[in-house]
Amino acid sequence: MQISANMVVSIDYTLTDDQGTVIDSSEGRDPLAYIQGVGNIIPGLERALEGKAKGDSLKVTIPPKDGYGERSDELTQQVPKHLFEGDTEIEAGMQFQTMSEHGPQVVTVVAVDDEHVTVDANHPLAGENLNFDVTVVDIRPASEEELEHGHVHGPEGHAH
Ligand code: ZN
Repeated sequence: MQISANMVVSIDYTLTDDQGTVIDSSEGRDPLAYIQGVGNIIPGLERALEGKAKGDSLKVTIPPKDGYGERSDELTQQVPKHLFEGDTEIEAGMQFQTMSEHGPQVVTVVAVDDEHVTVDANHPLAGENLNFDVTVVDIRPASEEELEHGHVHGPEGHAH
C-alpha cells in the first residue's frame, strides 16, 4: 500500500530548524496520524510523502513557502490593552487564539506597554526551513466518517 489521497498515514517524525535544534518530535508519543490530501499537514510534507510505503524513511527540507509561509511585518500590530479582558496580566510570549478572515489564528504577544499590546500573527515557524526526518509507520484507507470530518479518528472510534 502506498500513500495517496484519502489514506490515513501514521508517521514518526523529528522536525529540526537549520541550526539543528529539535522543534517537534513524535519520540515518546504515538505516531502522528493524518489524512493525505486534505491539508491536515503542511503541503511540502504531504507532497514528499506521496507514493511512499510503510517502513520508508525520508529526510526532507521544506522551504517556508511550502511550510508555514514567509514572515510578514504587516502581521505585527498594536492593539489597545483594554481589548484584552480578564484578570491575567498580559506578558510577552503569551499566545492567544483569535478569529481572522482566514479562520482561527494564533497570535504571540511580543511587547506590552501601559496602553498597548503588540501582537505578532506570523506563525512561530514562518520564514523557517523545516527539516523533517520521517518514517512511515502505517497506511490504511480512511473511513467515510473520517473523510466527512476531515480528520483521523482513534482506534476506539468516534471520540468527539
Ligand atoms: Zn471526527
